[in-house]
Amino acid sequence: MTTTPAEFGFTAWGAEIVRLAEPLSTRTPNPLAPRARSIARNGGVTLTVDGRHVEGLVQRGGEASVAHLEFSAMTSTTAVVLRDLLGSSAEPSDEVHRRLKESGAWSPAVLDVTDCSCRARGDRCLHILAGLYAVAAAVDRQPSLALELRDFRAATDDSPTDSGTCSPGSRWVSLTAFDVADYYEITTASEHDD
Ligand SMILES: [Zn+2]
Repeated sequence: MTTTPAEFGFTAWGAEIVRLAEPLSTRTPNPLAPRARSIARNGGVTLTVDGRHVEGLVQRGGEASVAHLEFSAMTSTTAVVLRDLLGSSAEPSDEVHRRLKESGAWSPAVLDVTDCSCRARGDRCLHILAGLYAVAAAVDRQPSLALELRDFRAATDDSPTDSGTCSPGSRWVSLTAFDVADYYEITTASEHDD
């Protein structure tokens, strides 16, 4: 028997998402899993992430299905511990995951909602599975996505009511500021290239 390296979930954060597709409690592997992995591997899933809500557009042949996944939010207690462990790093490492689990403050990702536009009923159709593998791959590449999916940013929002700039849209203002900072960094870097 040979062991192959984990194709999906080679980071601790991605592995948590793979667990949602392959729960330890099920004794027999989902027969759809190999096909779902193949679809995700071959770029057959287009992901749209909006906070805890993920839409996975799965296209196969002439058919398209849309899987909806919604992840459970982390508690503010978890967010505080996590923020402490993260320090100034933007991407959570496997070490951060390990320490977070050790702290007892972490509960692995759970899906609050799973739904699909296809006719197969049940919460683990091919498209939902393919969507989960695609999310796992995206999280492996960028582990901070795992935090975004659990509403880390919202949970750490300290509601600066005394700053005088508070508005109902303050959360979105901070998101925009974040994007602009990224954009600025990219343009600065390319200026140096030439
Ligand atoms: Zn489906």
